[in-house]
Amino acid sequence: MKTFEVKATVEELRYDELTEAQKALADLAREATHRSYAPYSHFRVGAAIRLSNGEIITGANQENAAYPSGTCAERSACYYDGVNYPDARFEAIDIADRGTDGEFVDEPCSPCGACRQALLQYELLAGRGVEVLLCGRDRIYRLDSIRSLLPFAFTEF
Ligand SMILES: [Zn+2]
Repeated sequence: MKTFEVKATVEELRYDELTEAQKALADLAREATHRSYAPYSHFRVGAAIRLSNGEIITGANQENAAYPSGTCAERSACYYDGVNYPDARFEAIDIADRGTDGEFVDEPCSPCGACRQALLQYELLAGRGVEVLLCGRDRIYRLDSIRSLLPFAFTEF
């Protein structure tokens, strides 16, 4: 039997350690949590994606009474990109979350499996790693790529 390891390196940063570009993305992701529609979970998520054309697009989770019909912040942003900027490529994504108490979460929250799969598709289109920033209240986790979030991903590429 042969075994191998799959590793992901996660950097833990504070806000003041971010570059100006990272801070701008983090600020927009946090701001986007206020446009979440989460009357059921009360878990408000915002996402901000920096594109290769310099645009930054945002998304927020949108829930629905028919529960599976809602969507996460990450997918609302990336599908908006696919429709409006089909030629631009992802450079970085920041995701911020506020818990049921309305405060930003202490432990940075990671995207759900469906979002990881959707985001990976856009990383493959970009042809290089897309920086991932996961924002908690004081801590920010940074990864070099979406693939780090989804080892053994399903891909057709
Ligand atoms: Zn999700």
